[in-house]
Amino acid sequence: MQTTEQTSNAAAQAAWNKRPLIISGPCSAETEEQVIATAQRLAATGKVDMLRAGIWKPRTKPGMFEGVGAKGLPWLQQAKKITGLPTTVEVATGKQVQDALTFDVDVLWIGARTTVNPFSVQEVADALRGVDVPVMIKNPINPDLELWGGAVERVARAGVKQIGLIHRGFSSYGNSEFRNAPMWHLAIDMKLKYPGLPLINDPSHICGRRDILLDVMQRAIDLDYDGLMIESHIDPDNAWSDAKQQITPERLAEMLDQIIWRKEDVNSEEYHAALEALRQKINHLDDEMMQILGQRMKIAEQIGQYKKDNNITILQTGRWNEIIERASVKGEKIGLSKEFITRYLDAVHMESINHQKKVLDS
Ligand code: PEP
Ligand code: MN
Repeated sequence: MQTTEQTSNAAAQAAWNKRPLIISGPCSAETEEQVIATAQRLAATGKVDMLRAGIWKPRTKPGMFEGVGAKGLPWLQQAKKITGLPTTVEVATGKQVQDALTFDVDVLWIGARTTVNPFSVQEVADALRGVDVPVMIKNPINPDLELWGGAVERVARAGVKQIGLIHRGFSSYGNSEFRNAPMWHLAIDMKLKYPGLPLINDPSHICGRRDILLDVMQRAIDLDYDGLMIESHIDPDNAWSDAKQQITPERLAEMLDQIIWRKEDVNSEEYHAALEALRQKINHLDDEMMQILGQRMKIAEQIGQYKKDNNITILQTGRWNEIIERASVKGEKIGLSKEFITRYLDAVHMESINHQKKVLDS
C-alpha cells in the first residue's frame, strides 16, 4: 500500500517530468485565503502542473514586503491537499531548505539574487545533501554563465540528481522594454552546455509588465524551452509584490491557449529533406562569408602596412563612422536590424584592428 507521502511524491515526479512544464502562482504568499484561492483557480484551468509562491522574498531595498516567512508553508501544504498541485518555493538559506522540506514542498528553487553568491549557494547545497528533491536554479542577476554553471555544479555535487534551469533575464542599467533583459543567447548557451537539464522560462521577471508576457512566452516555446514559470494572482493590481507583472489564473489560461506550441521534430521525410536542403545552402553561405572575411582582413593588413610606412594611427573614427553609416543604410533596406549590423561590424572592426596591429608591430 502506498502512503500519502509516496502518492504525493509520485504526483510531483510526474509533474516534474511533464513537457511543457507549466508552473504558476503568486509572486508571494500573502494570506492563507489568497494562496488557496489562487491554487484552486489555477487547478480549475487544467493547464497548470505546479504551484509556486514566494515565502521568503529577497527584496532590493529594506522596508519592502519581505515575505510572510515559514508561517506560509502550511498554506501551501493545504493548497496542495485541496488541489493536488505539487508545490515549489524559493530557498536562500539552509534553514529555509529544512523548513520547506518539513512542510512537504516538492520542488525548490534558488533565486537570482542567491545564484550570484557562491557562499549562499553552497549553504543551500549542503542543506540538500541526502535529499531527493528536484531543484531549479535561476540565472544570476548579472549575465555570467560561469556563475550560473557554478551554482548548478555545487548543487549537483551535493548529490541532487534532478536539476532544472530557470531563465529570468539579466539586470541592465538604463531603461529598456524589459525589467530584466532576456539575452536569449545566454540561456541557449547554457542549454547547450547542460543538455540534460530542463530549461524553464520565467517571462514574468523578464517582462516586469503584462502586455508583453505572451510574446516572451511564445519566444521561449519557439526556442524549445521545456517549460514556463509565470506569476499569477487573484487580484494582480493589489499584489504585495511584483503587482505590475502578475495576471489572474484565467488570463493565464487564455494566454496558454494563444501560444502556438511547437515540436522540436516531426517524423516526415519531406520535411527533413526540405530542411536539409536549406541547411546545405546556409552552410554554403557561411563558407563564403568566411572566405570574404578572410579577404577583408588581408586588405586591412595592406592598409596597416601603409599606415606603418606613414606613421599613422590604426583607429580613424571618421572612417569608422562612415563604414557604420553605409552598412546601416544598406543593411536596413534588406531587413537586417541596426543592432545586428552594429554588433557585427564592431566584431569585424576589432578583428581588423588586431590584424593591423600585428603588421604595425612586425
Ligand atoms: C520570484 O520568482 O518572485 C523572484 C524573486 O524572482 P528572481 O529571483 O528571478 O528575482
Ligand atoms: Mn516576483
